[in-house]
Amino acid sequence: MLLNAHRVELEGDYKDRILLAIEDITERRAIEKRKDDFLSIASHELKTPLTAVKGYIQLIKRFVPKDNSRLIDVVQKSDTQIERLNKLIVELLDVSKIQSGKLDIHRGEFDFDKMVKDTIEHIQFSNDECNIVLEGTTGVMYEGDESHLSQVVGNLISNAIKYSPGNNQINVYLSSLMNRIKFSVRDYGFGISIEDQKKVFDRFYRVGEIREKIAGMGIGLYICEQIIKQHDGNLWVDSELGKGSIFSFTLPLK
Ligand code: ADP
Repeated sequence: MLLNAHRVELEGDYKDRILLAIEDITERRAIEKRKDDFLSIASHELKTPLTAVKGYIQLIKRFVPKDNSRLIDVVQKSDTQIERLNKLIVELLDVSKIQSGKLDIHRGEFDFDKMVKDTIEHIQFSNDECNIVLEGTTGVMYEGDESHLSQVVGNLISNAIKYSPGNNQINVYLSSLMNRIKFSVRDYGFGISIEDQKKVFDRFYRVGEIREKIAGMGIGLYICEQIIKQHDGNLWVDSELGKGSIFSFTLPLK
């Protein structure tokens, strides 16, 4: 049996007494565990057929006649949608790995500025209407998990684009402090209220008004925060509603 104890503040005649409320949370924990198990099984089971379909699309691409522009377009669109689906499933898998403490961090030395530039280039390629401006440099060979940190950088920049429709300007800043490096991305979009700023890093949390307009699962920032924590860094947001947001992280240097 799992118990949770709360001290309840009393008022009036009972002010000098203590009331301790004991709650049985066995059932709640069991439900949470079943949900986590479901997430893990579902994401694993989805990954296998998806990988197969991805392979088939690559195969079809090779055999599409060069003069059949309609078919080329359809195959390209299928590829884009499969990529989206793959990203969602990888994120679900990441959440289930985090929940079970199995998110693997593979450390190695890499050029931090180059990783950021490459990630921007990749995003810019599929968002050509957007102007992502990179300023500053860390000048650092950083020891960490390049692939996961590129995932964080990509997620923060993609969110900046996604949550500032009609506003094409995105600024990325890099700097090196005393014994840390800093990454920031600024957008001029919806912004986030003070109250929501605390919650956006929670698992599956999405801001109410935006939820209806823009699709998402509310796990990207949760994953980003866990990856940054695994590198002993900090991730936070400064934002003003209606004006835009700045998401930043710092990482300590060894
Ligand atoms: P998703 O984008 O799939 O909803 P995230 O975890 O990346 O998941 O983000 C959680 C929520 O935080 C989003 O639903 C959105 O409400 C808010 N958010 C994230 N980035 C921004 C941003 N740059 N500007 C405004 N709101 C944001």
